[in-house]
Amino acid sequence: MTSPAAADHPPGPLVPFFSQAATFAALRPRIDRELNEVLDDGKFSHGAKVAQLERALADYTGARHVIGVNSGTDALVLLLRAAGLQPGDEVVVPAFSFVASASAVVLAGGRPVFADIEPVGYGLDPASAERVLTPHCRFLMPVHLFCQLADMPRLSALAERRGLRLVEDSAEAIGMRQDGVHAGLLGAGGVLSFFPTKTLGAIGDAGAILTDDDAIAATADALRHHGRPGRTIGDFRTINTSSELSGCNSKMDDIQAAVLLAKLDRLDADIARRAALAAAYDERLAGLPGVLRLPTVVDRGTAAAPVHYVYLIEVERRDELVAHLTRHGVESETYYPLPLHLQPCFAELGHRPGDFPRAEAACARTVALPLYPDLPLDAVDAVCDRIRSFFTGTGARP
Ligand SMILES: *Cc1c(COP(=O)(O)O)cnc(C)c1O
Repeated sequence: MTSPAAADHPPGPLVPFFSQAATFAALRPRIDRELNEVLDDGKFSHGAKVAQLERALADYTGARHVIGVNSGTDALVLLLRAAGLQPGDEVVVPAFSFVASASAVVLAGGRPVFADIEPVGYGLDPASAERVLTPHCRFLMPVHLFCQLADMPRLSALAERRGLRLVEDSAEAIGMRQDGVHAGLLGAGGVLSFFPTKTLGAIGDAGAILTDDDAIAATADALRHHGRPGRTIGDFRTINTSSELSGCNSKMDDIQAAVLLAKLDRLDADIARRAALAAAYDERLAGLPGVLRLPTVVDRGTAAAPVHYVYLIEVERRDELVAHLTRHGVESETYYPLPLHLQPCFAELGHRPGDFPRAEAACARTVALPLYPDLPLDAVDAVCDRIRSFFTGTGARP
């Protein structure tokens, strides 16, 4: 018997953009154990589970300090403040990124200065970054997007030559390394986001700051908890402690830390699964008419460890393809539909279309295909068949 409620719900998409139902089914006993410990501990906000996750992430990344906070965005804001950003300081940010990269600068009291991306690879272009520098620029903030680090050898050299502090928006970059050094640890510090769809995702919002710098860590630790040494429920000493800095409430929830600890065990296996799925897409999409570019790992002259967080391709007639995929039950995403310099919230910076042509072209041509450890291989076939049918008018594979 079909209930009226079931009839009201149309079937889900054939291939959802993201799903982790199978992961959670498999991890359920481990997650339940972790969550029971949180319930028994009774702290819930910045308690023992958060401290345990911070230690586990320090082991995984090699960071001297990991500071758990409530989102990747807040991690960026607190990192910039802890790294010494003063009101009005300028921060060079790529024009192609998630809006948080630039709004974090504004929230920290600074001013974003946009630069274009490199010809291949979507990272901040060192030459463009150098061209936009002003005497007020104090920070360079590369963003590591999709599958590899920005050009850190050249960006580090630029930062050194021009006396800039390097902070990394490594929100997407868990697992990515350069010559064995984890993303976020190539300059003053970096961040991680644990938004549910990220490579290591929570069941809500969470983030972390990574740094090897003791002073930055101490300040960020205080800023996440109203300028006081971070403590949890029941630690009455800190409620009466004076605040040296005006901070915010950006503590991490223990429930998120519990789920992240359970998922951290499988992170390397998840990354390997993502790589296998990316290779399957590569094989099926190579040479297809209408597909202009597949994910490309640019050689930076260093030992790179790519991580396929997003499988992003460039295509002709992107919006029509997206509509075609949607009609055929395949969900996709556009990362990112509008470049930052043309976002209404940054209009006062006075940019116009044409200012950063590579960022603008990327926004017009890119589409992200479903990529997550639970994705079955036949779903990759289904997605690629539908892309082929759009560009060639035939669904059959040769
Ligand atoms: C996800 C992301 C952020 C923000 O992280 P939240 O946890 O969603 O606040 C910042 N920058 C980039 C590049 C991201 O992908």
